[in-house]
Amino acid sequence: MQTEIISPVTETDIEHAAGLIRRGQLVAFPTETVYGLGANGLDASACARIYKAKGRPADNPLILHISDLSMAADVAREVPPAAAHLLTVFAPGPLTVIVPKAAHIPDIVTGGLPTVGVRCPANDIARALIRAAGVPVAAPSANTSGRPSPTAAAMVADDLAGRIPLILDGGACRWGIESTIVDCTAEGAVTILRPGAVTREMIAAELTQTEVRVDSALMAADAVPRAPGMKYRHYAPRAPLTVYTGAGPAVAAALRAELLRRSAAGERVGLIASRETVAVVRDVLPAAYRYDCGARGDTAAYASRLYDALRHFDRTDIASLLAEGTEEEGLGLAVMNRLRKASGGDIVAVGGAFEKTGSNKKD
Ligand code: AMP
Ligand code: MG
Repeated sequence: MQTEIISPVTETDIEHAAGLIRRGQLVAFPTETVYGLGANGLDASACARIYKAKGRPADNPLILHISDLSMAADVAREVPPAAAHLLTVFAPGPLTVIVPKAAHIPDIVTGGLPTVGVRCPANDIARALIRAAGVPVAAPSANTSGRPSPTAAAMVADDLAGRIPLILDGGACRWGIESTIVDCTAEGAVTILRPGAVTREMIAAELTQTEVRVDSALMAADAVPRAPGMKYRHYAPRAPLTVYTGAGPAVAAALRAELLRRSAAGERVGLIASRETVAVVRDVLPAAYRYDCGARGDTAAYASRLYDALRHFDRTDIASLLAEGTEEEGLGLAVMNRLRKASGGDIVAVGGAFEKTGSNKKD
């Protein structure tokens, strides 16, 4: 199959893409989080194509994307008050709510669960596509299963060229990590199943009468999480990753010492870190082996570069990879969640500073 990559995306292109979706085909499209691989969410055989193209396990459910909030009522049996509140405040945006599913949503979308994930993306191309298709669009991230999510059209092409007919190129994704998933199906409490750019703090500030929990499994690499797909080791870099957390200068010093140690042993090692830390190791690491993820503490920059960094190092010959962590506040919770998973929980707390969550670090 030839894969067409369209940029810039015109109204005619949207019509063309929407036609493909209506006819049961797949279209990759930009969102503000990561690129999605879309299919008609009411068409079971179209959704089956998503699993096939990605190599995705069948029990890992899909999120249904809607173009405006009125469509939520078409995919949910009911929208619980907490979900309605969160959607009113944060949609369109990087938020997925888990709600009871409407009877006509095919089982393949939800992995057989009685619930469904619903999201209204804050991206004009995405919303125009859904609106033109006239159906909820089932869309997981547009990567091969087990690879980092794509944050640019070229990354989609790297994974899926030849397997899908069309990629709409909308440039780089604003956030660069997947949406926050909030389970709103329980009475009196909501649970964050996956942290993202709508942060725990933002949710708690809105739902003042509701307990806001964070799925405990998010904090440990080895526990079995509640969100079905989260049990899969989403992505592991080719080279084993170790994440260093703590106060910036101490982390930079510890990373430099470890880089020198490994290099002296003849090991090729890569580093993903803040600009400040990269500056500290510049003299001991070739340029291709260091990836600058923005100013220290700029978790938005880190989030938007992390998957590109991980893909970059998979193309090099490094034997191991080190990364600087972030504080687990705000967007940092999401960045650390992805780093924790990519490292299989190999986290070193330097000087016992801000690593609060007891990882399975081999000390
Ligand atoms: P992706 O779109 O590739 O980021 O994957 C979607 C993720 O959303 C899945 O891996 C699940 O973790 C989560 N998800 C989707 N539907 C549900 C649901 N009904 N209940 C809980 N989690 C869900
Ligand atoms: Mg995914």
